[in-house]
Amino acid sequence: MSHPLSDRINSLPASQTLAMAAKARELRAEGKDIIGLSLGEPDFNTPDFIKEAAVEAIHQDYNSYTPVDGYLELKEAICTKFKRDNAIEYKPSQIVVSTGAKQSIANVMQVLLNPGDEVLLPCPYWVSYSAIATLCEAKSIEIPSSIEANFKITPAQLEAAITPKTKLILFNSPNNPSGVIYTKEEYQALAAVLEKHPQIYIMSDEIYEHINYETKPFSLAAIDSLYDRTITVNGLAKAFAMTGWRIGYIGAPEWIAKACTKMQGQITSGTNCIAQRAAITAVLAPVSKIQYMVDEFKTRRGIVIDLLREIDGFKVNVPDGAFYVFPDVSAFFGKTIDGITINNASDFSLFLLEKANVATVTGEAFGAPDCIRISYAASELQIREAIKRIKEALS
Ligand code: GLU
Repeated sequence: MSHPLSDRINSLPASQTLAMAAKARELRAEGKDIIGLSLGEPDFNTPDFIKEAAVEAIHQDYNSYTPVDGYLELKEAICTKFKRDNAIEYKPSQIVVSTGAKQSIANVMQVLLNPGDEVLLPCPYWVSYSAIATLCEAKSIEIPSSIEANFKITPAQLEAAITPKTKLILFNSPNNPSGVIYTKEEYQALAAVLEKHPQIYIMSDEIYEHINYETKPFSLAAIDSLYDRTITVNGLAKAFAMTGWRIGYIGAPEWIAKACTKMQGQITSGTNCIAQRAAITAVLAPVSKIQYMVDEFKTRRGIVIDLLREIDGFKVNVPDGAFYVFPDVSAFFGKTIDGITINNASDFSLFLLEKANVATVTGEAFGAPDCIRISYAASELQIREAIKRIKEALS
């Protein structure tokens, strides 16, 4: 029976990252030994110094509604962080704190996009970008890339994708799902194209900024010519192991920040007060305090790459950051293994779930249909066992 749901929700695809995680949980509840490498969620605990700040806030009776755009003290701390880490000058009036970077992104798209506007998505891109654009009745325009191009787009590709309807482009570096980081020079070359099209706004999702291994990411808003039309998105979930605390934020031109506050004021109001107090401590902490997690991710990256490269048919690049590998598995398309025909990355990902009991996410969700995403935000033991099972299932 079909229920009288709105066209809006009917046209919205479910989040495939969350759906795969839910499916893994379901199978586990049925007694299956599933290793979850689908969700991008650090397996560390939130550092003690942040937890202590939250406990203190509870004892200090922080329990009322907060300003919709966040406590001033937190916004000031975020400005300090932007200056320290990103060489970007923002005033507190340019900052909006939200319930996770996902809400920050949704706010921005809702306040900027009209039906029919085009949103450029360099591939691969995080699943929710296109879904939120759909909610705004905007059109997602994918700019393809491949593992051979190290999952980066070129200035010529960008130029070719721009039309009079282009309103927004989303960059995400370090990238989810490829782990790739655009260098300063690469960003400058893309900026030179954007300079010719002043009607285009730029959203730079920098949520994985601190999880980098060799190259420090560069922020697009640090390019003077783009500053006035760039929205920098960040949050605490990934680097501080605070996924459930739900703290995201933007730095943006003041008029965009104001509009996001208006939007949020009608939908969720201010973000959780305790999490905001703890966030002040987190964003002001020296990055060295979380380096142990980054070091561990780097070790795991090496293990995953070495092990995957031993499997015939997996093409693997070396990610510069985040905690994902994004192998090209198109060599398996058209093959039948153990009675299952694999026609595409979704089939491959389901094959791995069924035959290896390993949860991954299909690259189709990220606009890269030749690949699958493997998250190595899991213990070394789990990673080794998962890849062993994958190898066995495929042989
Ligand atoms: N961002 C994470 C991921 O890509 C968490 C899940 C989600 O919100 O999509 O796995």
